[in-house]
Amino acid sequence: MDYLPLFHNIQGRKCLIVGGGETALRKVRPLLEAGARVQVVAPEIRQGLRELADRGKIQVSHKRFHPNDLAGAVLVIAATDEGAVNEQVSRWARERNIPVNVVDNPALCSVIFPSIVDRSPVQIAISTGGSGPVLARMLRGRLESLLPANLGRLARLAERFRPRVKEKIPAENGRRAFWEGIFEGPVAELVYSGRDGEAEAALAKALEAPDPQPLGEVYLVGGGPGDPDLLTFRALRLMQQADIVLYDRLVSKAVLDLVRRDAERIYVGKTAGDHPVTQDNINRKLVEYAREGKRVLRLKGGDPFIFGRGGEEIEHLAEHGIPFQVVPGITAASGCASYAGIPLTHRDHAQSVRFIAGHRRDDELNLPWRELAAPGQTLVFYMGLNGLETICRELAAAGMGATMPAALIEKGTSPRQRVFVGTLADLPEKVREGQAKAPTLIIVGTVVSLHHRLRWFGGADEGKQSDD
Ligand code: SAH
Repeated sequence: MDYLPLFHNIQGRKCLIVGGGETALRKVRPLLEAGARVQVVAPEIRQGLRELADRGKIQVSHKRFHPNDLAGAVLVIAATDEGAVNEQVSRWARERNIPVNVVDNPALCSVIFPSIVDRSPVQIAISTGGSGPVLARMLRGRLESLLPANLGRLARLAERFRPRVKEKIPAENGRRAFWEGIFEGPVAELVYSGRDGEAEAALAKALEAPDPQPLGEVYLVGGGPGDPDLLTFRALRLMQQADIVLYDRLVSKAVLDLVRRDAERIYVGKTAGDHPVTQDNINRKLVEYAREGKRVLRLKGGDPFIFGRGGEEIEHLAEHGIPFQVVPGITAASGCASYAGIPLTHRDHAQSVRFIAGHRRDDELNLPWRELAAPGQTLVFYMGLNGLETICRELAAAGMGATMPAALIEKGTSPRQRVFVGTLADLPEKVREGQAKAPTLIIVGTVVSLHHRLRWFGGADEGKQSDD
């Protein structure tokens, strides 16, 4: 081990910074956040530091560094651009056994600054021993996305309950099991989603009446339209802690691959033809697994509340007293529009956008065509491939006119995305020729005319079909 990682309590203690420029300013912030009394010594002091001094946050001395300045300091940082001064500061500090850091010069340091993931009171410090600051920053980025923003609040809640838990559960083993249940279960999830009051109540309840078979919970998660990069941080976190996952046809393989490896996977797609799983069946299964104490991930394509029947599923869960949370996802309309370069609203084209279910019931597509044909809006049809011809014909007849631009996006956001662009008059023909397959999304409105200028997703255009 090259260094010993320690967390340094510098509340109210003197920390000296030698140097008055940008580098010095950058070092001031973490010191102040950790409650230090910061003194800056330099013949010239830059504006940002002067402002902090004027606001009483730090003390500044306009003079050259002198070894006497080190008196009483618990940490010294040399941040000048004069190598000789930095070297002197380092030597004098070490002679006095004061921890010293020289910015960008590990050889002169007795202590180095890590990259920090701060969820105070939880903190993670990352060091590469000065060998790869970029690597440290990258690792930090990964950890940032992995750890819930409210992790610190969970730690503080646990801190408040520590004495009570100790009193109630004297055995250390028992306490460990109790806290594991708290940090990985519904209490943690409540804090992470900002429901602190409920979390506290649940924690108190768990402590009063420890449940022999604790209830699991259900995560209703939007998996986005296909590209795994479009998942939310929360979706990914829950995907990695689920015990079992129920997913449907729209969930892409790339997204499914990110679910915890040893989680059980159950396909509940409702593809016509092969034995379809009914909604009732899914609802029942969710309750059953949660009652077994499992963390159940109900993973859906796009957003669970947009043509996803998410509402029905949570109604059923609520009726049966199963805890759940809903995580929004990027809906197909947003994903497909962005990846096809078609803005859904635009100052000059559309001031509103409508999401419409375009599938037929009993072989008839009964929609308020006149209302839909009104100008100034963008129409997005989900589940509209079979009804495409009817949709185009009815809209044209209801007043949009046959030349209104329209597009169909197949497998949006995936590497196999194809975009068909035309008008209400010729889009059905183009789509038929191209033999587009579900899932597809239809966008109608003058915003579609912007596609030629704004598209950026390579190889996906009418005619140029990248069908690998
Ligand atoms: N909850 C989903 C929609 C479910 S309805 C969401 O928010 O996106 C199913 C319809 O969504 C499909 O028929 C299709 O119209 C659309 N869809 C979903 N993913 C798509 C994709 N990657 N590309 C094109 N359309 C998609």
